[in-house]
Amino acid sequence: MLDIRNLHVSVDGKPILKGLDLSVKAGEVHAIMGPNGSGKSTLAHVLAGRDGYVVSAGEVLYQGSNLLELSIEERARQGILLAFQYPVEIPGVANVYFLKAALNALRRHRGQPELDAIDFLTLIRSKLKQMEMDESLLYRPVNQGFSGGEKKRNEILQMVLLEPTLALLDESDSGLDIDALKVVAAGINGLRSPQRAIVLVTHYQRLLDYVVPDQVHVLADGRIARSGGRELAIELERTGYGTPADHQGRQA
Ligand code: ADP
Ligand code: MG
Ligand code: MG
Repeated sequence: MLDIRNLHVSVDGKPILKGLDLSVKAGEVHAIMGPNGSGKSTLAHVLAGRDGYVVSAGEVLYQGSNLLELSIEERARQGILLAFQYPVEIPGVANVYFLKAALNALRRHRGQPELDAIDFLTLIRSKLKQMEMDESLLYRPVNQGFSGGEKKRNEILQMVLLEPTLALLDESDSGLDIDALKVVAAGINGLRSPQRAIVLVTHYQRLLDYVVPDQVHVLADGRIARSGGRELAIELERTGYGTPADHQGRQA
């Protein structure tokens, strides 16, 4: 599904990714770990098509075609979704309208009929139940006054609703208590499917107790420094990343 070869990316003239290689097959979950500032978010943002990143070398193939040529909208249409794309608060806009607008925009782009209010409500209620979220969250302004855990759940809810082909999750576990972590993990596990790939950026091994990845990669100095199975994450939790940046990471 995703083939990244020798990817070099700069931000504000500063090289961040320096020859990154990564292959992800449909059905797989890959965890990207690494010290703070190693470029994990940069990788997720570049794949989603965010502005401000300059690709100076390398290629990214998504389902066999050149991803880097596609606009952010086209990537979304083709099923690439970055969670926490809209982590901001949107005062005055009820969450239910926001989620419905997001889903219907995607359905329009995909040539599918839009859902009316009643069909949408039926769908979103089933997803809320899956996420153990209270329905009152639908009628509050987007993210406003949400606790950290509620925001993260809302972000996973958006994923579960929009059913991406390639789901990119950046630090979906940060700031969660153990109960919220389990719910978010259940949401992510619910996204697992033979047709879908999930790239999970995470700082800590904890989430990987609940979402068992097919592969774990360590990003260091702009490249994948190590790859392995779940046991690599467990080892890292014990030993740290072994770089000076690790100490920065521990503070974050
Ligand atoms: P991570 O997600 O692994 O913590 P990031 O991808 O956020 O790392 O950042 C990688 C590096 O790029 C860091 O050194 C960070 O300071 C730098 N960086 C990220 N965004 C910008 C930006 N907009 N301008 C300048 N430097 C940036
Ligand atoms: Mg960071
Ligand atoms: Mg980051």
